[in-house]
Amino acid sequence: MNEEKKSQTAQSLIPVGISRCLLGEEVRYNGGHKLSKFCRDQLSSWFEYVDTCPEVEIGLPIPREAMRLVNTEKGIRVLEIKDPSKDYTEALTQLAEGKEASIDKLRGFIFMQNSPSCGAFRVKTYHPNGNSENTLGKGAFAQRVLELFPNLPVEEAGRLTDAALRENFVTRVFLYQEWRHLKDSNPSRDQIIKFHSNQKYLLMAKSQRHYKLAGKLLARAGNYSVPILASRYEMILMDGMKRLGGRKGNTNALQHMQGYLKKVLSSEEKADLTNLIESYRLGEVPLIAPLTLLRHYSRKASGYYQSQRILEPHPKELGLYNSI
Ligand code: SF4
Repeated sequence: MNEEKKSQTAQSLIPVGISRCLLGEEVRYNGGHKLSKFCRDQLSSWFEYVDTCPEVEIGLPIPREAMRLVNTEKGIRVLEIKDPSKDYTEALTQLAEGKEASIDKLRGFIFMQNSPSCGAFRVKTYHPNGNSENTLGKGAFAQRVLELFPNLPVEEAGRLTDAALRENFVTRVFLYQEWRHLKDSNPSRDQIIKFHSNQKYLLMAKSQRHYKLAGKLLARAGNYSVPILASRYEMILMDGMKRLGGRKGNTNALQHMQGYLKKVLSSEEKADLTNLIESYRLGEVPLIAPLTLLRHYSRKASGYYQSQRILEPHPKELGLYNSI
C-alpha cells in the first residue's frame, strides 16, 4: 500500500474482518496462503484489516490435516478427512460467539471461499462415505458470524473478482460505516430520516421493494421508539443493499435523478443526459459515464440532490463505477 496515502487516511480507515490466509499469511492446512492482491494492495488503502484464522485460533497446528463439510445425521459438520471422528464444528462456532463484541466493531468481513471454516456462501459438502453431495453449506465460523450479524456486509475474496459484486460490497462497507456511526451516537428520528434521504437513489437502484419499505417505515417514524426505528431501518437498508440492481435498477435511479433536475437543465443538457442514460442501459458505456454528467449538473441542483450517496458511494480511486 502507498504509505503516503495510508498516513493521509489513517484517521478514517474502516475496520474490516478478513480471513488471515488472504493477506498472504501461511496459515492454511498445507502451510500455504491464499493471498488476495486486490484486498492487500487496493482495499487496504481504505480498510484496516482485523484478520483471523479460525482453525489456528481453535488450537490446530500449521500444517494440519484437511477438513471438510460432511452432511451427517446431526446436520452439516466440519470433520477431519483422515479421521472423521474429529469434529470441529462446535469449536469454530464457539470461536465466532467469543468474538461477538469485536466483530460488532467491524464494518465488513471478507472471507476465504470454499473453506469449511471460512466459506460464507457455497461451500461443497460431502456424504459420510466421501462422495460429494449437491447440497451447499457454509463454513462453521462464517455461518455463525452471518447469524449473529445479518446486516454486516460480507463477501468472499473469490467473488470480489466480479466487478458488480466488488462494487456492491465496497458500497455496503462505506454505507454501513456511516450508518453505524450515526446509530451508535443515539440519533433522533429526524437524523435517521435525514440519513435516509441521502441514500434514496442508491437504495432505489438496488431494490425498489426495499426503497418502498424504508419509505413506509420512516413515514411512520413517530410510532416507534428510536432504537426500534433504527433497528428496523438498518435491517431494510442493509438487506436491500445486498441486491444487485444491475443496469435495470441503475437506469431507473438515473432516470429519477434526471427528473429531479428537469427544471434546472436546458433542453440540450436534458437531451445529452437522456442519450447517455440510454447508452448505459444498452451496455454501451459504464455507469461512471452518466454519473459523471449527473455529478457535473449537481452544481445546479439543491443540497438534497448533491448529497445523494449514489453520486459517490466509494473513493473515486478504486474506479468501481468504471466496470459496471
Ligand atoms: S480459510 Fe480460514 S481457517 Fe482456512 S487458513 Fe484461511 S483463515 Fe485459516
